[in-house]
Amino acid sequence: MSETQDSYTLEYAQQLDKQDSLASYREEFYIKEGGIYFDGNSLGLLSKRAEKSLLDLLDSWKEYGIDGWTEGDNPWYYLSESLGNQMAPLVGADANEVIVSGSTTVNLHQLVATFYKPDGKRTKILADELNFPSDIYALKSQLQLKGYDPSTHLVQVKSNDGHTLKEEDIVEAMTDDIALIVLPSVLYRSGQVLDMEMLTKEAHKRNILIGFDLCHSIGSIPHELSAWDVDFAFWCNYKHLNGGPGGTGGLYVNKRHFGTTPGIAGWFSSRKDKQFDMEHDLTAAEDVGAYQIGTPNIFSMAPIIGAISMFNEVGIEKIRAKSLKLTNYLMELLKHELAGHGFKTRNPMEEKRRGGHIYLEHPEAARVCKALKAEGVIPDFRSPNGIRLAPVALYNTFEDVWKMVQILKDIMEEKKYKKFENKRGVVA
Ligand SMILES: *Cc1c(COP(=O)(O)O)cnc(C)c1O
Repeated sequence: MSETQDSYTLEYAQQLDKQDSLASYREEFYIKEGGIYFDGNSLGLLSKRAEKSLLDLLDSWKEYGIDGWTEGDNPWYYLSESLGNQMAPLVGADANEVIVSGSTTVNLHQLVATFYKPDGKRTKILADELNFPSDIYALKSQLQLKGYDPSTHLVQVKSNDGHTLKEEDIVEAMTDDIALIVLPSVLYRSGQVLDMEMLTKEAHKRNILIGFDLCHSIGSIPHELSAWDVDFAFWCNYKHLNGGPGGTGGLYVNKRHFGTTPGIAGWFSSRKDKQFDMEHDLTAAEDVGAYQIGTPNIFSMAPIIGAISMFNEVGIEKIRAKSLKLTNYLMELLKHELAGHGFKTRNPMEEKRRGGHIYLEHPEAARVCKALKAEGVIPDFRSPNGIRLAPVALYNTFEDVWKMVQILKDIMEEKKYKKFENKRGVVA
């Protein structure tokens, strides 16, 4: 594919779609007629399979009443475990190292409550200054619960450019007063992929435990958590995984840590055969199941059954390959069509450091996003001046990318964004 004049045409985009082996999956999703959805990094779209698995679980309630816990195609009592098994390949873990339970923030609380064990001089938690606020709030509150002042005990690695982190800086901050490290796998704004393998190796050399927030990488890039020897990880399933708004999250604990008492226990932390003995002494599950807390939100897990089946059918390697092609193509077109309109690309350019979305900055970003929405394109605005664009492998086309760039070009050339206020909405 040489970059000739022809590579900027609609016909060229359509040619790329014809060669795309994942093209048929688009029909499995509900996509608004005439709309272009580029926000799958924030909330993935509903698929017909996810809809069916949700309706099937409603039916199991209708059919079985309380016996739905053990009857039907997806007995509720084992659903967290069975979905964990199905999700394990996406994170490169053993089946019993992954559970679908809780939410990102709740799972982070659980994992820090379990693995943050200040001891002697080692009392601090290492994070970064670019992570999603909820993670930072959780870390600060966990420090406070242990009687530490977050202003001295939460160490946040600085970014030089405000968008990306240098792995060397993170390693340098792994000093002998650090007890635990929590970092994102993919930064939620710039989409930078951190080198999880290298960071884990460096942390372990210094006897520090390390965990990752996979919210922006699960379903988007491959992971090898077991091989990299990561201690723990947690994520949501409603972004690239298309599990639905408020969908139940996931967590991974390295089998080396099985048997560690859950920091936040509940009756679903039990060994499943013991749970209904109703004893007041917990017999915790011997695997990752121990880090569940209470009754799972069955209907928030239901769509994940259908959604995950697609990922396992296709395989994450193919999804990643198409995703990179889409983001490369998008950047190429933006460079060609929108030069001189004030957009700055803030995501890393190198493929191995780039996640599933691209990140632009523009002084008029809020109103540019509103203008895009008015034209049927759904971007993702991040205050104060960021635009995330995620062409998703399973349901976006190269034609979507081409059209979106044309629409954006028209908005900029015709100054259509001026009709809108440069201010974010309540949910942006
Ligand atoms: C989306 C996201 C969250 C959201 O947490 P919830 O508990 O699901 O609300 C947290 N952290 C990161 C990095 C995210 O991208």
